Amino acid sequence: MHNKIADILQKSVLSKNDLIILLSANKDNAEIIFNKAAEIKTKYIGNYTYFRGLIELSNICTRNCLYCGIRSGNKNAERYMISDEEVFNSVKYALDRHWGSVVIQSGERSDTAFIDKVEHILRQITQMCEKKPGITLSLGEQKTDTFKRWFDAGATRYLLRIESSNPDIFKKIHPQDKLHNLERRIENLYTLQKLGYITGTGVMIGLPFQTIEDLANDLLFMQKLDIDMIGMGPYIEHEDTPLYQYRDLLLPIEERYFLSLKMIAVLRILMKDVNIASSTALQAINPDGREEGIRVGANVIMPNITPVRYHKSYNLYKGKPDIPPETDNYIKILEKQIALAGDKVGYGDKGDPKHFFRRTVER
Ligand code: SAH
Repeated sequence: MHNKIADILQKSVLSKNDLIILLSANKDNAEIIFNKAAEIKTKYIGNYTYFRGLIELSNICTRNCLYCGIRSGNKNAERYMISDEEVFNSVKYALDRHWGSVVIQSGERSDTAFIDKVEHILRQITQMCEKKPGITLSLGEQKTDTFKRWFDAGATRYLLRIESSNPDIFKKIHPQDKLHNLERRIENLYTLQKLGYITGTGVMIGLPFQTIEDLANDLLFMQKLDIDMIGMGPYIEHEDTPLYQYRDLLLPIEERYFLSLKMIAVLRILMKDVNIASSTALQAINPDGREEGIRVGANVIMPNITPVRYHKSYNLYKGKPDIPPETDNYIKILEKQIALAGDKVGYGDKGDPKHFFRRTVER
């Protein structure tokens, strides 16, 4: 098996079957995959990790995704929306530390008040900065006009995970209604690309019903879409969600973690110059999880700079509320661990994905 993997790593084009073999590697064999991914990262994008300050704007959500702890049907979630001033303070925290970019994520809403609020926030952030910061939005599916308004107001990147590229799995993990629709979500990604956004997507890894072949297809989907940035991480069950009933079907949590590291590494080998985030969900399983993600090919970490009192409420999955807040001391430790993983922090740089400027697929 070791030799087979080494042969695959020499190829310039990887087939679905190659991807399946790589994703199936055991702990010993995975090391050469991880090393190859690290080598490609050094060669194509350099050894820099970029911080994006993550602001979890609100957990109010109109969707009812069967895996997500902030789904509209979860009556146990205490709902919040942070004030504009709190957003600006968080942005200031990130920019004062020369992080160069922030991510605004939220439960999904598409009412006028929400659209206006986000637009206002974007305009204010752009005004308060001398140098235009990178602003990523992760606010779910929206109308083209809304995406355009937010782009014009200063957002440059948009992250919209497809969760799974397999239509059957997508159906099983979402309610059967007009709101939740894989094709429309993919259409949204095309729209974002057309509008000029640096476009990101991603999937959950280790979902019930998901096979290694599904994950290989997910990687090929991202390649075909010519996506610029990827955020993907292990699925972690949440007891207040309908998908919890399938917890006995899941891989043990350490295996979901290991599979996620392999997905990051194989994606780096496949797509070379994209930005890959080392997800918070990795950290929820292993306190050093994000740093391990960096070692195997990721180049983005999103420290959570949401005011601490809201952390418990943005409760997407089990273990998330227990993650310690990212204080200056903690960031120093993180920096050391990033150095151990072979990277420097890319301070003062927005860290736009090189892929965006070389994208070959025309929309
Ligand atoms: N509403 C926005 C983003 C908020 S949720 C949107 O629709 O894009 C952000 C991401 O958290 C989701 O895309 C999903 O991939 C992830 N997530 C939600 N529940 C999860 C769970 N139980 N385990 C792991 N990741 C989860």
